[in-house]
Amino acid sequence: MFPGRKANPRAKPLAKDARGLRRGVSSVSRVQQLAGLVKGFVRRWQSGGDREAVEGARRCRRGLPDCQGCEKRHLHGYYTRFIVVGGWHCEIRVPRLRCPVCGRTAAVLPWFLAPRSPYPWCLRQAVIVAYLTGREGYRPASAGFGLDWQLVWAWLDALAREAKELLARLIGIARRYRWVPAPVEPGPRDVDACRMKALSRWKREALAASKALLLEAYRLWLAGRDLGLYWPEPDPDGILGFLEVLCETPF
Ligand SMILES: [Zn+2]
Repeated sequence: MFPGRKANPRAKPLAKDARGLRRGVSSVSRVQQLAGLVKGFVRRWQSGGDREAVEGARRCRRGLPDCQGCEKRHLHGYYTRFIVVGGWHCEIRVPRLRCPVCGRTAAVLPWFLAPRSPYPWCLRQAVIVAYLTGREGYRPASAGFGLDWQLVWAWLDALAREAKELLARLIGIARRYRWVPAPVEPGPRDVDACRMKALSRWKREALAASKALLLEAYRLWLAGRDLGLYWPEPDPDGILGFLEVLCETPF
């Protein structure tokens, strides 16, 4: 997973903290900023990014069940996906691959979209970070991003349930590779900081672990970028999507 490569001379020095997980910006301007970011992603996808993704997916057997033919998957049409960020929305074409042997099809999703949802990773991440780092409850934090609070609750709940285990895996990586800075594990004060957000001790620990997980993934991404590693989508707004790819990869 981490082939040795020369350091990337153009890379910026490693940040000491996760300032890339932006906070302190009003959610209205943040939503506009995210819509602009996603528009750029869509343009890249429509001007050849989709073809590159198809080629990459054809070569990659990751996550596929054992089938002798899946390496020879071919393009098998497209379907349309909606993308929504605040008041902006658009449609994109998503290619489908089909295996000539087992007949299974698989969508080739763009790096910025989560499965079965019109909301890009960066929007999910922004509202989760706004909630975790701010003083607001679910309703105001979600409303600022034009999202239902129940949806945001479900996203964070799903992340929180996995957070401790994922964090342990990331910390394992950080300890194994000297090029990743020493990991920061959440302490009692971090758990205590979540007391306004959750009644149960378990949930407070899970929320603190979620915050630490995003920071740790960001630090790992920065360290990898400085080494010149190819990360799926080098952008601090894409940490959730990056985690998704990391979790699919055995490490
Ligand atoms: Zn197959």
